[in-house]
Amino acid sequence: MKIFDPHVHMTSRTTDDYEAMAAAGVVAIVEPAFWLGQPRTSAASFIDYFNSLLGWERFRASQFGIRHFCTMGLNPKEANNPKLAEEVLGILPRFLRKDGVVAVGEIGFDDQTDAEMRCFVAQLELAREHELPVLIHTPHRDKKRGTQLTLEALKQHGFPMERALVDHNTEETLEAVLAAGAWAGHSIYPETKMDEQRMVALVQRFGAERIIVNSAADWGVSDPLKVPKTAAAMAAAGIDEDSIVQICWNNPVQFFAQSGRLELQMVETRASVDQRVLFEGNSVLRGQTPRVED
Ligand SMILES: [Zn+2]
Repeated sequence: MKIFDPHVHMTSRTTDDYEAMAAAGVVAIVEPAFWLGQPRTSAASFIDYFNSLLGWERFRASQFGIRHFCTMGLNPKEANNPKLAEEVLGILPRFLRKDGVVAVGEIGFDDQTDAEMRCFVAQLELAREHELPVLIHTPHRDKKRGTQLTLEALKQHGFPMERALVDHNTEETLEAVLAAGAWAGHSIYPETKMDEQRMVALVQRFGAERIIVNSAADWGVSDPLKVPKTAAAMAAAGIDEDSIVQICWNNPVQFFAQSGRLELQMVETRASVDQRVLFEGNSVLRGQTPRVED
């Protein structure tokens, strides 16, 4: 079965993770721009990070047969540094025009401050100008209120709900997100947010329409195989194969296809691997024999 992980921070993962993901059926991924665990002190760091998502990280994925797409945005945490936020919003348009950028994101709320709201609304406008959908992070603290705030802001600014993916849902937010007409993402974690069995229960209750699951794996304790593991848990619980394919493949493809930069034909077959290829003179290999497929 082909798997799409629509939210995974591969920058912080190893080549072992790429190998394991490919072996588990992951064919394509979206890597959202986010914060890096500690605050950046200059917009230049964002420029380098955005370029690495488009360049080196896409190359690393390709070396293991995985197609890499990304989203570009100013994350909610760093929206609270007004000077930095202004500069990053200024540089975003040039990145939003790049091939392989399939949404504006992760945007949204962390502490639910006025500064976060300003940056959220500004990036909804950027998404509209660039005809891109948006990937929205919902806060860990006071999630229900943060999700409500998100849905209200989308409505108030007339942003088309079918172009919004509201992520990190739980039992207390999913119903409202679906009722609003947005797509609903779920980050499957070893301990927090959502796990495989709870996800199974949500699918049994709400069905597969506009439901998306991801691993959200990053530099914290997380698991880049959570999408294939959730697919297996759904199958074991008797959820029909059509629904599993819809959740783990069709839905993310359909959502990000709204960018005009990801088509079914582009991801239908697994990318072939050629590890002889270099990126600006650099390889992922350390003395290994390059793997080359037809
Ligand atoms: Zn994330």
